[in-house]
Amino acid sequence: MVEKIETIILGGGQGGLATSYFLVQQKHEHIILEQAAQPANAWRNERWDSFTFVTPNWSIKMPGAEYNGNDPDGFMPRDEIVKYFEQYVERFRLPIGYNSRVNRVEQNTDGDGYCVTTSDAEFIARNIGVGENAARVAAHIVENRGASQ
Ligand SMILES: Cc1cc2nc3c(=O)[nH]c(=O)nc-3n(C[C@H](O)[C@H](O)[C@H](O)COP(=O)(O)OP(=O)(O)OC[C@H]3O[C@@H](n4cnc5c(N)ncnc54)[C@H](O)[C@@H]3O)c2cc1C
Repeated sequence: MVEKIETIILGGGQGGLATSYFLVQQKHEHIILEQAAQPANAWRNERWDSFTFVTPNWSIKMPGAEYNGNDPDGFMPRDEIVKYFEQYVERFRLPIGYNSRVNRVEQNTDGDGYCVTTSDAEFIARNIGVGENAARVAAHIVENRGASQ
């Protein structure tokens, strides 16, 4: 079955989560499609155990959750980073569909919105949001120019 939704965000990294935060505040219907099973995939699975931010804690400024700990000049270690993003998702009730790898994004033939295909679902969305790194997904975007030419 094809699900219709106003906005789909590709990837639940910080770019996607920050976008979702604002959409939640403004009560816009949306879903984040995230290929991993948990939040903070890049930090959890693509960094090493001893990893710390190279940027100081004071610069952590996710919307609604600016760093307010007692070590602003410190560098947050990986496990804390992962926890920070887990709590972010929970606190703001961000709608994430986990285990949802986006395979294809295609402009609808009538030029109105997009068809988004994951491994096991299909969506029609009016808007698409793409985080910095999830832009890799954009490599799969096929723009159907037939309707606009
Ligand atoms: C080694 C390293 C160290 C870094 N250190 C810092 C630092 O100290 N401070 C700092 O501010 N920045 C740092 N960065 C940069 C930071 O990681 C990125 O700027 C940030 O992660 C970008 O966020 P994003 O949401 O665009 O992408 P990501 O955080 O990469 O999130 C992308 C998400 O999309 C998901 N995804 C990807 N493809 C698909 C798909 N097809 N379908 C569904 N989901 C998909 C991924 O699972 C992931 O969760 C570092 C980067 C690296 C590589």
